[in-house]
Amino acid sequence: MTSSDAFVVVGAGLAGAKAAETLRAEGFDGPLVLVGAEPERPYERPPLSKGYLLGSAGRDAGFVHEPDWYAAHDVDLRTGVRAVGLDPAAHRVGLDSGEELGYRALLLATGAVPRRLPVRGADLDGVRYLRTLVDADRLRADLTGPAHVVVVGGGWIGLEVAAAARTHGCAVTVVEPQPTPLHAVLGPRLGAVFARLHRDHGVDLRTGVGVEEVRGTAGRVRAVRLGDGQEIDADLVVVGVGVVPETSLAAAGGLPVDGGVVVDAALRSPVPDVYACGDVAAAWHPRYQRHLRVEHWANALHGGPAAARSMLGQPVSYDRVPYFFTDQYELGMEYSGLGRPDGPVVCRGNPDEGPFIAFWLGPEGQVEAGMNVDVWDVTEPVQALIRSGAPVPVEQLTDPAVPLEELLPAGSR
Ligand SMILES: Cc1cc2nc3c(=O)[nH]c(=O)nc-3n(C[C@H](O)[C@H](O)[C@H](O)COP(=O)(O)OP(=O)(O)OC[C@H]3O[C@@H](n4cnc5c(N)ncnc54)[C@H](O)[C@@H]3O)c2cc1C
Repeated sequence: MTSSDAFVVVGAGLAGAKAAETLRAEGFDGPLVLVGAEPERPYERPPLSKGYLLGSAGRDAGFVHEPDWYAAHDVDLRTGVRAVGLDPAAHRVGLDSGEELGYRALLLATGAVPRRLPVRGADLDGVRYLRTLVDADRLRADLTGPAHVVVVGGGWIGLEVAAAARTHGCAVTVVEPQPTPLHAVLGPRLGAVFARLHRDHGVDLRTGVGVEEVRGTAGRVRAVRLGDGQEIDADLVVVGVGVVPETSLAAAGGLPVDGGVVVDAALRSPVPDVYACGDVAAAWHPRYQRHLRVEHWANALHGGPAAARSMLGQPVSYDRVPYFFTDQYELGMEYSGLGRPDGPVVCRGNPDEGPFIAFWLGPEGQVEAGMNVDVWDVTEPVQALIRSGAPVPVEQLTDPAVPLEELLPAGSR
């Protein structure tokens, strides 16, 4: 058992790796263990559905650190090991190897896992999910042969997989129960932009209908049956219907779990010396005055370091504006904030024609969220507008000739 002055991080993804990096950078020189269930050292997931899946990036593209970084920084990285037990009173974590680790402070960075497709036939061979590098290895190999791919779910992962599959020359059908892809985040008007993008690239996009059953022959997927009775041939079915936070360890330790591990703005759970960050954490957000679980890359990148500083006793109030990005075909997009998908949205530029920025407005005319599509280097002013909370005249917001910085209230520029 490690000595009880150890800091233990469970979950060797981006959030866990960045926390370990920050602990060392901030001068923590005690024992530091990073426990990861996957066979690889920590890596970033965005390339798995983009460059790596497309074949334009190598397998090494996303690793957070060089292989020798962990030893060089005296980080005891345990890969292929799962934490299965947590006794907060005794300050102990049990591993599936049978070993027990004592801790002075524990960080849960256990991330999320794909939601399974709850229909008959979903366990057939040829039904795939995409979360890990191993998943991506397999999918990448699948997409290089001629195939009819049915993507279940028109969310971010589903659409990125559809774009990669089309780029590989596969026939692609996307099935999405909502009226447009990304409907729950972007609403109908901006969801339509992504619908058109995929249809223009030859995707057969079926909206307003769900998958009822996956059909197979000899244990292997053959077709997908939709709610309207139609059957679509399929060599491969890729499911992208969201993720669920990996809270089992937290629950085993009796931590409060409510749509994620509940932590305060300093990423501290109510259980002494236990912290959480990244996809698994439902953290109190001072701006939104509620717990928020953000399942995006930037939240892992910044949340890990914030949790590390909190573990070291530094004052932390994690209040970043949520941010994510996507690349699909030639389109690149960044989204900041938390817009109401059914709220009013105005655009700078024409979404039907080319680069644009969409702004979701709040009841007072303030910017709640901004999405820049093929427009770059505007994240800072977009986020500053959101942070300011001040109403912005729509004529100026939508006028490309007016620099966004000029719309900030005096004093916050
Ligand atoms: C294919 C793909 C593409 C993405 N693209 C984008 C994008 O373009 N933009 C964007 O903003 N976000 C994107 N994301 C989301 C982003 O990758 C996640 O938000 C991020 O990975 C969260 O990091 P994390 O460290 O919190 O969790 P994770 O990355 O899930 O890492 C958690 C790790 O903990 C391990 N673990 C879990 N339980 C245990 C346990 N009990 N013991 C030991 N280890 C455990 C898991 O195996 C995993 O390795 C993408 C995600 C995927 C899957």
